[in-house]
Amino acid sequence: MTENNIDRISNIIRTQDILRRHDFNFKKKFGQNFLTDHNILTKITETADLSKEVNVIEIGPGIGSLTQYLLEEAAEVMAFEIDKSLIPILEETMAPYDNFTLVSEDILKVDLLSEIQKFKNPNLPIKVVANLPYYITTPILMHLIESKIPFSEFVVMMQKEVADRIAARPKTKAYGSLSIAVQYYMEASVAFIVPRTVFIPAPNVDSAILKMVRREEPLVEVEDEEWFFKTMHSSFVHRRKTLMNNMQAAFGKDSKPEIEKLLAQAEISPTIRGEALSIEEFAKLADALLPLKK
Ligand code: SAM
Repeated sequence: MTENNIDRISNIIRTQDILRRHDFNFKKKFGQNFLTDHNILTKITETADLSKEVNVIEIGPGIGSLTQYLLEEAAEVMAFEIDKSLIPILEETMAPYDNFTLVSEDILKVDLLSEIQKFKNPNLPIKVVANLPYYITTPILMHLIESKIPFSEFVVMMQKEVADRIAARPKTKAYGSLSIAVQYYMEASVAFIVPRTVFIPAPNVDSAILKMVRREEPLVEVEDEEWFFKTMHSSFVHRRKTLMNNMQAAFGKDSKPEIEKLLAQAEISPTIRGEALSIEEFAKLADALLPLKK
């Protein structure tokens, strides 16, 4: 354990010294905003509830500000970083740790399943802990959630607005296809809000830590998963339109009588809006409309 916060990589003076010595330039295209606040980093680590019986995957270690805290609490940390110019910096900052592995690749392109076999103990539970690059938060999350990897938990920083959308409940403005796509697999809640002032450079939005715990089984049982996601997405294409209008837009005007019949049989109101339907009701909708699948 690093005794003195002043020695932390995230200490603003140390961060600036590291960046200057390595002549590092922030790259906007990689969503680089580095954390410089000991209290926030401690809170993230506490929220992740790590132990020496847990492996961690980190996306985008940057110069290692968060990584250092994770390494002290977890068995091992495997970090995926796209920016090659951070390699020499991480070689320096991570030198004291023998439980760190850097994979210098784009997280969306790497073969994760084979990478995680390289953990010394690949059988430990794996948690994802990261301060995500905001420009690809959703693709990264969906990529990880839909991968066959049995992550037990995600504790990730993202734009507050995106975190609110993911954790949203039906009948709220934030509720939509992203809420359902994530909540189908994970229980999601906003752990805490992070002000923009704790990063360099400061982003122009506030952030939040979202905690997502994988469900043992998806929240609802559906006959055809792909169809469930397709009908659910179609229900939100025009948020202000009724379910009937969105379904007609998705399946064509000619299918109107059949849609009406199937909705009536399932006792689903054609005039309801997607945002009023719970995940359970979306499951019922998908199963009811299955005869429309070509
Ligand atoms: N973890 C560091 C911190 O908290 O100070 C840096 C977080 S910064 C918001 C996001 C990091 O993700 C950057 O280091 C960036 O280079 C990296 N990154 C961006 N796109 C990536 C991708 N597709 N795959 C892996 N890393 C990526």
